[in-house]
Amino acid sequence: MAFSPIYAPPRMDPALPPLRVNLYSDTQTKPSPGMKAAMMAADVGDEQHGDDPAIHELCDRMAALLGKEAAMFLPSGTMCNQIAILTHCRAGDEILAHELSHIIANEGGGPGALTGAVVLGLKGERGQFNSETIRAALREPRRNAPPQTLLEVEQTANSGGGSVWPLDKLNAVMDTAHEAGMRTHMDGARLMNAVVASGVPAHEMVAKCDSVWLDFTKGLGAPLGAVLCGSGSFIDEAWRWKQRLGGSLRQAGICAAACTYALEHNIDRLAEDHANARILARGLAQVPGLIVEEPETNLVFFDTRGAGVTADELAERIRRDGVQVSTVGKYRVRACTHLDVDRAGVELAIQVIREKISR
Ligand SMILES: *Cc1c(COP(=O)(O)O)cnc(C)c1O
Repeated sequence: MAFSPIYAPPRMDPALPPLRVNLYSDTQTKPSPGMKAAMMAADVGDEQHGDDPAIHELCDRMAALLGKEAAMFLPSGTMCNQIAILTHCRAGDEILAHELSHIIANEGGGPGALTGAVVLGLKGERGQFNSETIRAALREPRRNAPPQTLLEVEQTANSGGGSVWPLDKLNAVMDTAHEAGMRTHMDGARLMNAVVASGVPAHEMVAKCDSVWLDFTKGLGAPLGAVLCGSGSFIDEAWRWKQRLGGSLRQAGICAAACTYALEHNIDRLAEDHANARILARGLAQVPGLIVEEPETNLVFFDTRGAGVTADELAERIRRDGVQVSTVGKYRVRACTHLDVDRAGVELAIQVIREKISR
């Protein structure tokens, strides 16, 4: 019987030449030898029973880093978002988030399927919105209106080009939500990219978030893991959902040790990824026909329409020369820098893309 995949994986087809530069996603980073050594050396226990020392160390560090009372280790960022929503909201509630947000587009309809909540998509440039947009979306508290209980923001905003919410704009939307009686949640998949790019300390950036998480599998290079933070009572409640959803673990300290290693070794170096993204953007902007969005962090989005190729056509041509990007629209390409792509790789990618477009 024919198997019809609903997810088309990146072209890792063995018939294609080996990858030379993988700009597909920062999720494609591989654990380094140092990270693997830290995993091997981890002191572990039974996480579900609360006695895995490596998990405790990671959670303590994360709570301190983000200035929150408590933290919880989870397998993925998606699970952090879904558990936060389950904890903050009830069936019938309405969540406000950007219309391009990950919770709307990339989590299998999780808020509706699991919590029974509806997400109202807000409009705004580069994956962000302002207090006025929130105020316009607020409903009169009537019996026939859904209770609006949660505001969600992404830092950095993925589909917004990896944009960084400026601190005053972020604080303003959080204040507006709190004034309206809502709670606030930050999808901080790439929070440390925002911290490194802006110079604003992490605890300051998330001070007004009732819950926030960081992904260790993006630019931080760990094989799995994300940490959700909030008040003690929020994390207590969230633990119930972790248990119910099968997210509570055993000797997971092996993975937590990789995350702790990433906190120590892979945060400051995100600046290199940002510098490489700027070099990539500058190089691509010189290719006739390409329109390149100015990157703020490690994500470079560009439009191929003017070059007379679709995003998929370009991706396929350059893949034959060992360069992988992702396509996120008919003419929209995303190239992502990370710890397994160096300056030479970026230069090579520019050269290959230029050749494949001008042939
Ligand atoms: C990757 C990502 C997630 C989901 O994280 P996973 O660890 O892949 O489940 C959520 N939000 C944003 C903005 C992301 O980029």
